[in-house]
Amino acid sequence: MTFIRALAGACLASLCGFVAPAQAQTYPTRSITMVVPFAAGGPTDVISRIVTSHMAQTLGQSIIIENVVGAGGTTATARAARSTNDGYTLITGHMGTHAASVPLYPKLAYHPEKDFEPIALLAGTPILILARKDFPPKDLKEFVAYVKANSEKVNAAHAGIGSVSHVSCELLHSILDIKPVGVPFNGTGPAMNALVAGQVDYMCDQIVNAVPQINAGTIKAYAIATPERNPSLPNVPTTAEAGLPAFQAQAWNAMFAPKGTSPAIIAILNAAAIKALDDETVKKRLLELGSVIPPPKDRTPEALATLVKNEIAKWSPVLKPAT
Ligand code: ASP
Repeated sequence: MTFIRALAGACLASLCGFVAPAQAQTYPTRSITMVVPFAAGGPTDVISRIVTSHMAQTLGQSIIIENVVGAGGTTATARAARSTNDGYTLITGHMGTHAASVPLYPKLAYHPEKDFEPIALLAGTPILILARKDFPPKDLKEFVAYVKANSEKVNAAHAGIGSVSHVSCELLHSILDIKPVGVPFNGTGPAMNALVAGQVDYMCDQIVNAVPQINAGTIKAYAIATPERNPSLPNVPTTAEAGLPAFQAQAWNAMFAPKGTSPAIIAILNAAAIKALDDETVKKRLLELGSVIPPPKDRTPEALATLVKNEIAKWSPVLKPAT
């Protein structure tokens, strides 16, 4: 009898895999790769590193960041879409790779909705109009007048066609009705280095990349394109305060897995991401860099799926295929 009970117990334990997929029960058993579709040191890279360093503690496995650059983030995103859907390759995508790229690249090698499982929104990132320190205009009004008068001479740095910095400045340029030269980089990390070095004139970049440089006085910030000022940059006026209310821009960064990754694995990753966002140290670092931490209702995979859908619908009529 005792033997039979013991046998039954052993059986139950070994058959647990029957009840829930064995994969999800043990996941993760090895390190996870997080693809970042831009150069190290830029906003997507920084947000990914802050959040995944905490997630790695929760999951008990390391998360290795792999920066894969090119084509405004679409090279890496296409690669992530085709990777094995076992939870060991993930990607941090954003408003560009998972929305704006759809109308900009008619031959995009992936579809953000069809080829990915949303995991969690990580951070909202307001956009700022930034310039090299010695760019002549003193404030946003002067900037507008200057770039309109010199649109053939000035240049705007960005992180490739379809990147947030590209799309945001395209929006600004359409409002101002100008077409300055764009200078592409593999991410706004290297673009920021060029701005600090005075090699390019201006850039529309996510706040995370801008706060350390603004505070160090190495670049100029004309305005933040959100309705309210950001607590991390209390002295930077909003575009409305500075005279250009029509320019409103905020991006987002979020975590995705290839389509078909099991719901159990997505749930484990989502829980780990939420735990990271609730951690005081993670929160402090993200807030110091000006990010907007998503409220609980926006942290589910379903909420991220809705965001992607809405953002594609928002950008599709606005952006034309890049030529
Ligand atoms: N998010 C990109 C980066 O991390 C830049 C961009 O999309 O503009 O460099």
